[in-house]
Order: sequence, then structure tokens, then C-alpha cells
Amino acid sequence: AYVITSPCIGEKSADCFDVCPVDAIAEGDDQFYIDPNTCIDCGACETACPVSAIFEESFIPDEERSYIRKNREFFK
Ligand code: SF4
Repeated sequence: AYVITSPCIGEKSADCFDVCPVDAIAEGDDQFYIDPNTCIDCGACETACPVSAIFEESFIPDEERSYIRKNREFFK
């Protein structure tokens, strides 16, 4: 699944929200989040993000990997 990381905080452009074909993206207080159970790995949100906050899980930089859990927890 794709994951939204720290550059979203304070940005929240919502471009990802608008392009996701399966409505996997939800707005939280501080950032947007991707539901890993709904995401179909199309990559559209990664391209749309103006601050490069979105990565496919295996490409997330080490210092951003805690966001995998943060995204997942949001949908619990
Ligand atoms: Fe939605 Fe595609 Fe991004 Fe997954 S990769 S959250 S399906 S836009």
C-alpha cells in the first residue's frame, strides 16, 4: 500500500484525496491518511502530491517508516 508521510503535516493540499479512484484517503487532524486495506496501489496520489509526501511502502525513507503504522492505526 501507499503511505502518507511527514511532509503532509502543515500542507494537506488534498490533491491526493481528489485523485484516489477508490476513496482510500481520509482527512485527519494533522495530515491525510491512506487506508492500506482499500488502496489498490495505483500510484495516482504519489504523482499528485505537491510535497512528495506519498510513497509506496517499500520505498519509504527510513526516517519516515513510522508513518506506515500511523496510517494503519488511523483506520482502526
Ligand atoms: Fe488511492 Fe491509488 Fe493512492 Fe492507493 S495509490 S491511495 S488507490 S490514489
